Amino acid sequence: MIDDDSPSKGGFLRELTRELAALEAAGLRRTTTHLPRRAADFVSNDYLGLARHPAVLEAASKAIEEFGAGCGAARLLGAGAELHDAVETAIANWLGAESALFFPSGYQANLGVIAGLFGPSDAIISDELNHASIIDACRLSRARVEIHPHADLAAIARALRATRGARRRLVVTESIFSMEGDLAPLEAIHRLCREHDALLLVDEAHAVGLLGDAGAGAWRSGKRDEGALLGRIVTGGKALGVAGGFFVGERVVREMLLHRARSFVFTTASPPAVLGALRRSIAIAAEMTDEAKRVLHLAKQVARALQVRARVDAAIVPFVVGDPRLALRAAAECAAAGLDVRAVRPPTVPSGTSRLRIAIHAHNTQAEVERLVRVLEPFVRGEGGAHIVGSPAPRSEAIFVVGTDTGVGKTIASSLLVRALRRTSRVAYWKPVQTGDESDTGVVAKLAGLSDGERIEPFHHFALPASPHTAAEAESASIDPTAVDLELDRHLRSSPDGTRIVVEFAGGLLVPWRLGFDQGDWLGARRSATLLVARSGLGTLNHTGLTLEALRRRAIVPRALLLVGEAHAANCRTLKALHPDVPLFHLPLFDPLRGEDLERWLDANAEFGERFASQRAQR
Ligand code: PMP
Repeated sequence: MIDDDSPSKGGFLRELTRELAALEAAGLRRTTTHLPRRAADFVSNDYLGLARHPAVLEAASKAIEEFGAGCGAARLLGAGAELHDAVETAIANWLGAESALFFPSGYQANLGVIAGLFGPSDAIISDELNHASIIDACRLSRARVEIHPHADLAAIARALRATRGARRRLVVTESIFSMEGDLAPLEAIHRLCREHDALLLVDEAHAVGLLGDAGAGAWRSGKRDEGALLGRIVTGGKALGVAGGFFVGERVVREMLLHRARSFVFTTASPPAVLGALRRSIAIAAEMTDEAKRVLHLAKQVARALQVRARVDAAIVPFVVGDPRLALRAAAECAAAGLDVRAVRPPTVPSGTSRLRIAIHAHNTQAEVERLVRVLEPFVRGEGGAHIVGSPAPRSEAIFVVGTDTGVGKTIASSLLVRALRRTSRVAYWKPVQTGDESDTGVVAKLAGLSDGERIEPFHHFALPASPHTAAEAESASIDPTAVDLELDRHLRSSPDGTRIVVEFAGGLLVPWRLGFDQGDWLGARRSATLLVARSGLGTLNHTGLTLEALRRRAIVPRALLLVGEAHAANCRTLKALHPDVPLFHLPLFDPLRGEDLERWLDANAEFGERFASQRAQR
């Protein structure tokens, strides 16, 4: 209901309605609908069917009878102590660990452990496909965050070298990745942690109950010496069929979490039914090794039949179709056939990798599995507008060019980057918001020799040479960040696979699009690869330092810093010493500046292009 008696609320609600319509048009609108109970379950994480196990239900009822519907207070006030002690002991024993601490959800467990134990003087090294709860925890910790390409050991080693000066270093990874279904190379990651004296946290949400001895997870459990392992995160809402999340590890860590994990301290204890049920389901899951084997077997069978090229190491089969609308269509066809399987779209997965996340369960019958394969086969063959699926196609991605200020050489840097990327990939250039009479797109077209297919016109062009929000206001217009974001997704989708779109920002990083939303917010939300451009000369150290700090707060380390202008040796030395993890390049001013000069510079500075040669996910 839009309320016209309160103009600012009315305006806000209209804005939300517009944003929802734009999400709908892009196939990205979310709902909480569910299918009739009769539909075959290929969606839940209740891999072993314990959510409806009679003994688990009975244990829940008993706990309610004995302890009531709620625990009535936070854990530190003693709420539900008896029940919690029993559950924490059960999980610690199962996983061969010293102790455990229960949180009301897995999300809160990650938040509490990571943000509670790590802070601004620390560094966290995180896989690009880690779960949102880990991403949010990293942000909340305010530690320096290094995000590396998925399961890339060389990149982890590089990040460990680059963060040598940090007080504490943590490598955090899922064991089975929630949207990819593959197993992280845990042994090798652990070895790197030991070599570099870093800690390791493993989120076992999708492995416990399915992998390892007695279903105790992918980490080899039961060893007294855990080496660099800080601990494991286990969720109660997946194979255990109930809810909640555990930190599982050493006693001293558990004890410190009682003081530091705010998502533990400041929340009401979970209801007795959850704890009673969990205690029972832990005991049952440890005995379900045959069922766990069946899940793995069926998952591999489905993956083979659907030609999924990704590795399937547990219950999750990622059936990637690319476009979110295509994923919705595939899900709708499954629903029509009585199969509940859901489309997973950005921002849960990176742009261009929308998929059906097929979850296999011990209770899925062979007939259900065969029906699923039959319904999805046309999508594998590319019929009806679907393209060949199975594993992510080389994705198109955006690379953001941001400046420390206006007039520092971003447009020249963008031209240089277009030329560098063109050496290895398809490329395009886009300036979403242009202000003033000049056309940066025209300049890049000239300097980089853009073809028509490589040139994307600005989404907004305002005549006033001012900050985007002021320039928009002068024309009684406004910039809608969601619309710009969706427009970028549209360009990425409509470009040939593997296209790299160079996106040039307007002015400095924190210039607003509208009050309350600046370009840094956009970059922080998309986490695209970034080139930072700064002026070479006086004033650079401060502007560059401030911009790098703002980027790091958004968990972004630019792939390169480009200083444009007359060489200034002392600046280069200082910046290299202060920011050893950001490779620095210097582009002198050519007069006149021609495309050939940029090509020659690229020949002499091959490492610049290499910094942008590999793709990373955007999330
Ligand atoms: N970690 C991973 C890897 C997950 O997949 C999830 C849930 N999808 C969580 C943590 C959060 O767990 P919960 O749903 O209990 O909050």
